Amino acid sequence: MNPSVVNRSIQFLKPEINRILNFVCDFVGMPLDKFKKRVRVRIVSSNSDREESYFDEDTNVLNINLQETGWDGFNPEYSKYWQYLVFHEIGHLFEEYVAKDAKFIKLFGDVNKDYDEDKIYQNLPKTFSENYVSRYATKHPSEDWAETFATALIIRYFNETDKLKSLKTKNFYSKIRYVYSIKDIIKRKGKDKEVQNGKRPD
Ligand SMILES: [Zn+2]
Repeated sequence: MNPSVVNRSIQFLKPEINRILNFVCDFVGMPLDKFKKRVRVRIVSSNSDREESYFDEDTNVLNINLQETGWDGFNPEYSKYWQYLVFHEIGHLFEEYVAKDAKFIKLFGDVNKDYDEDKIYQNLPKTFSENYVSRYATKHPSEDWAETFATALIIRYFNETDKLKSLKTKNFYSKIRYVYSIKDIIKRKGKDKEVQNGKRPD
């Protein structure tokens, strides 16, 4: 793609990024300014391997490389949306709030499990799509969480209620429902902390 076209389209995405951040904050029940202190989104379009989409913990920058959009390991129905990548990476950020929850572990597994970079997930049995939203989700509990988070949020973001209904027969639907309960889980966790700190919960 012509670089000037890329730059123009990235500028054009800025208001949409703000919309997404507002949407996510509302979804998880976190004030926008608190979230913005933690995360700044930077959109790039580069073919370099070093420009993967990732969160840089030192700078609090969430790097999204548009070139990764459309990768066929992601949920094939949504991978064409760059917003899907943003939701996937933001999903990783919220993992810390839920990963120790017993229900999370039951549904997604233990995120402390070794990350096997060489794990083959290309030749999966057909039945994997009953249990996972995408091929990449089979790689590791963290990726399962991020992929399910991205799928759950993009369905909400684009208001696809019929699509959501059509997923009800899938085994992974319980994981999507779990994502939809994240606001309550975070709230409950905050209350648990208050109790630990000796404050009376309301
Ligand atoms: Zn990921």
